[in-house]
Amino acid sequence: MTAADLTALPFPAGEPAALPSGPWQGLLERRGHPAALADRQGVLRVVSAAFARRLGRTTVELQGQPVAGLITAEQHKGLQGLLQGMRQELMLPVRADAPPLRLSWLQAADAASAAWLLLELPDQRLERRALEALFRDHGGAVALLHLQLQQLDLVQGKLGLQAGEALLEVLAHRLAGCLPPGALFCREGGDRFLVLLPGDWSSEGVLQALDGLLSALEEPLTLSEHVLEPAFHVGVARSPADGSAFGPLHRAATRALELTHKPPVSACRLAEPPERGLQLRERLAGPLAIALEGEGLELAFQPILELESSRLVGAEVLCRWDDPVLGRQVPSDFINVAVATEQISALGRWVVEAALATLAAWDRAGHRLERIGINISALQLEDPQGMPFLREAVVRHGLATDRVVLELAEADVIALSARAVDHLRDLHRQGFRLAMDDFGTGYSGLKRLTQLPFSQVKVDRSLIAAIDYDPMQQAMLMALVTTAAGSGVDLVAEGIERSRQLQMLQSLGCRYGQGFHLAPPLSAAEMEAALSEPSGRWRADAAGGVRVGEG
Ligand code: C2E
Ligand code: MG
Ligand code: MG
Repeated sequence: MTAADLTALPFPAGEPAALPSGPWQGLLERRGHPAALADRQGVLRVVSAAFARRLGRTTVELQGQPVAGLITAEQHKGLQGLLQGMRQELMLPVRADAPPLRLSWLQAADAASAAWLLLELPDQRLERRALEALFRDHGGAVALLHLQLQQLDLVQGKLGLQAGEALLEVLAHRLAGCLPPGALFCREGGDRFLVLLPGDWSSEGVLQALDGLLSALEEPLTLSEHVLEPAFHVGVARSPADGSAFGPLHRAATRALELTHKPPVSACRLAEPPERGLQLRERLAGPLAIALEGEGLELAFQPILELESSRLVGAEVLCRWDDPVLGRQVPSDFINVAVATEQISALGRWVVEAALATLAAWDRAGHRLERIGINISALQLEDPQGMPFLREAVVRHGLATDRVVLELAEADVIALSARAVDHLRDLHRQGFRLAMDDFGTGYSGLKRLTQLPFSQVKVDRSLIAAIDYDPMQQAMLMALVTTAAGSGVDLVAEGIERSRQLQMLQSLGCRYGQGFHLAPPLSAAEMEAALSEPSGRWRADAAGGVRVGEG
């Protein structure tokens, strides 16, 4: 339960002393971690048993005590001032070796004057932002483990969503029980956990610690009379080697996790060191140049659906490269190499040409795909030949410019030069549509959105990873839906992997989406086969694949 859940309840108006302890006691007891409520003056009124136990006191002893008595002496004196100036939440140290006490205001729904102070002692199990805050405060070396439970969908499909949730709860308890002292964890997305292990870990050391964790986590368990054998994939990153801020470290661990999905590698990977970029460049630059000249590249098409109706509204074009010697390459790897070696303009031209030729061929065969999304990188906008080529190619293939959506990642949008911005405006005037891609991974914010003529925002999958249960992500998406509607921009959620994410996105009013749960990236032939179905309506089936619906 979160602060948002508590505020949603009819909080009593009136003087703090009038707080009826009975129902609130029950609510606090049911929270996932130790919690207490204090009044505006900072006097403890309701204390959960877990909260008292953690502080080595009894609830009776603590009730009526000042909050100031709980925290370390240095913070003690300035507390009233801190509380008055507190906007959202405040973290205060209770003891040097323990996670800090978190304070946040709860405003009574029916009385502006009465406000209550919620005190929480995060367990080893935290909320994501608390984990991030602790990482920032900690400052020292850590290992970050990104664990993903395998086949949760299967459990949900066979035993129901509640059973899936129960399984994750059991695993969270197991995790809390087997973590070394000082380690912390949080739920990350539906089937994922993040674990922070303080210390300067060698790669052997961290793999050994992980081994211990996994053997406890992967013990068989019985759920609704079924015996389950949970299995995890894990990505590991270490600070400072893989990043000294939380963002880069998290990305490194996530990337390592994603690589475990690509067989035949094992189910646990360490993040690659920073010099990996250089090694990739050395290894891939030459073969990529050859592939660009010859037949090495291919396109995949990932359907984009209107969520409410499952109607296919377009597809995103994704570049694929299967080198005869090196094998299939990870797109973000070779795209980065193409940018670093200035081959991205040539690659971009190849993608545009192949995508438009395919779209025109489908048109001629009567298999019309309304709209196509093409990823472009900022460097392509700097290329003097890039923009005229795009326009010329659209005309040559007899297509209308408004069927092409140019996707530009938020991180690129922030760094655009004045010339590139002019080019974007020019493209918009010519009828091309513009999309801000991976929204939420950069820091452009909504302001940038209104400064450039975007007709689409693609919300990065990290912002919807926990949308089915995290009130913060839900609130953020709701704000995005409202802003997008107000500025006439279409919102597309990326990376929808579970039916519950889909349901939540629908109920929050997000209109469009793409993701493995709806449809994976398809080959041109698969896409054409699906387009040729007379109904043209798509639905995700229970196994997460795509089939063409009846209606
Ligand atoms: P993107 O533009 O955000 O493309 C979406 C990526 O998310 C694709 O990865 C897609 O396979 C993946 N994806 C789709 N649904 C899901 C899902 O449900 N869960 C998860 N975890 N992932 C999902 P891909 O193909 O590996 O491409 C990665 C990135 O490489 C793209 O991100 C894009 O930035 C870049 N890229 C791909 N093709 C091109 C291209 O032709 N030109 C340029 N400049 N960049 C490209
Ligand atoms: Mg994209
Ligand atoms: Mg994207």
